[in-house]
Amino acid sequence: MARNFFVGGNWKMNGSVADCKKLVDMLNGFQVPANTEVVVAPPALYVDRVNQALKKDIKVAAQNTYIKPSGAYTGEISPQMLKDMGVEWVVLGHSERREYFKESDDLVGEKTAFALAAGVSVIACIGEKLEEREANITNDVVARQMKAIADHVKDWTHVVVAYEPVWAIGTGKVATPEQAQDVHAFLRKWLAENVSQKAADETRILYGGSVNGANCKTLAAKPDIDGFLVGGASLKPEFGDIILSRQ
Ligand code: PEP
Repeated sequence: MARNFFVGGNWKMNGSVADCKKLVDMLNGFQVPANTEVVVAPPALYVDRVNQALKKDIKVAAQNTYIKPSGAYTGEISPQMLKDMGVEWVVLGHSERREYFKESDDLVGEKTAFALAAGVSVIACIGEKLEEREANITNDVVARQMKAIADHVKDWTHVVVAYEPVWAIGTGKVATPEQAQDVHAFLRKWLAENVSQKAADETRILYGGSVNGANCKTLAAKPDIDGFLVGGASLKPEFGDIILSRQ
């Protein structure tokens, strides 16, 4: 079964009302091929504004949600609130949340299951740190992160995995297409052996880490790279080229 190409844009904690308007105008001017899904993740405060202004073939994600529908959890938002606002996606387990906000593998798994149960699709991020790659334990690390999700999630239909080596995020140091393909192939095999052949065949596995308009085509040509999660370049016109990188 052919997997539709998927391009996510993670705006992180960037932007203003004026910037959001400019980015929406830019995105609304892009061509989105029929076999490509595009989802952008503005800061929570701007999600609704961006969602209302974007053309229908570009969807919106939040950058985080919690594991309760409502209650005394100051500062958090729930997937039920996203659903209420007509927002279909959330990014979970980004390395910045794992690092700065101490999110554990297990919490990411729990958040993923909770969002899915609320009817919100998940871009679940995993990836090794530089010292882990240098110690040759990349596969062990990503397998551990995948298991923490699989412990909570049985149906992966609405999960997109983003493999983002931490050393490549925001550094300008992109993984080579071969390095990325190796991990993506490992992840697909892991899904076949630990979830199901269906999950292995159908789950999109994105690469993230310093993707730009110049390097996207060679990465997109690899058989197990089904798209990208893009940080810095999602705020620039080259995001339009990244959307077209499989064409
Ligand atoms: C990210 O934040 O998920 C990311 C991949 O960032 P960048 O593209 O800037 O490396």
